[in-house]
Amino acid sequence: RFSSTCGAQSGAAMKRFEERLYPEWAQTFQIDEVLFEHRTDHQHLIIFKNAQFGRVMALDGIVQTTEADEFVYHEMLAHVPLFAHGSAKRVLIIGGGDGGLLREVLKHPEVEHVTQVEIDGQVIEMAKKLLPQHSQGAFDDPRVRIVIQDGIEFVRSCTESFDVVLSDSTDPVGPGEVLFTSPFYEGCQRVLGENGVLATQNGVPYLQLDEVRVTHQRLKPLFADVHFYGASVPTYVGGIMAFGWASQNPKLRQQPASVLRERFEQAGFKTRFYTPELHHGSFALPQYVLDSFLG
Ligand code: SAM
Repeated sequence: RFSSTCGAQSGAAMKRFEERLYPEWAQTFQIDEVLFEHRTDHQHLIIFKNAQFGRVMALDGIVQTTEADEFVYHEMLAHVPLFAHGSAKRVLIIGGGDGGLLREVLKHPEVEHVTQVEIDGQVIEMAKKLLPQHSQGAFDDPRVRIVIQDGIEFVRSCTESFDVVLSDSTDPVGPGEVLFTSPFYEGCQRVLGENGVLATQNGVPYLQLDEVRVTHQRLKPLFADVHFYGASVPTYVGGIMAFGWASQNPKLRQQPASVLRERFEQAGFKTRFYTPELHHGSFALPQYVLDSFLG
């Protein structure tokens, strides 16, 4: 979801926000009200209201999250790795400044500690204020430690270990670029134990198939099992979005739906998108996506 223009386009009738994927294609949102627009130390941040999607956050002209469809992405990025692992106590989140992923991770009773490393403190500050439905108090949970730092610096110098690492980053442009590089993945490998899982935001393959190919190329030398799983997030336009998956233990990706179903019922919380059966099926990918990294 690369952007070339950003910010609100003022039109006679109604201001519109344009996310331009490529010169020949864009998606636009009617802006009912701009709640916040500012260039932080790292990126252009806008939060505005839209009748269809509720409050929308965009960074550097790229839609990050909306109140209406955030549950799809945050449930899939949190629950697939955590139910596959089954007993994750320590979770590391890179990015995720809106707090939606943190909210979902904390629903797992087995999780004892979450470190969240976000480069831009202003994203957290504004999300807490203007997107309260995302974090729902998650940032104040006693199990949580927030670190304002570049994620690659953190994993380079971190001496702790984690059971699950979730990279909830922007796209590989601007500050997010480093989170798609080998040094970052090496850092993630180092902080993960033998039974650890790394899951990443990995773009929309129909438009950014190279992101899948390159991520696989960079993860493969570091992890025994590298694959992707998919889910269709309405405002990440272009079809399914890919989540990168990496682990030293191939069994984690192949948990039978019956095991996932048992763990899900054990956890005892409700979801709006995730089901154990959908989790199991999400690793089945379109042939053209498989060909891009297995071919
Ligand atoms: N769900 C969104 C998506 O798929 O594009 C991502 C949401 S979240 C808002 C992305 C977060 O990554 C932002 O808060 C941004 O500040 C953060 N981020 C970008 N580059 C980073 C880096 N190098 N280290 C840590 N956080 C970073």
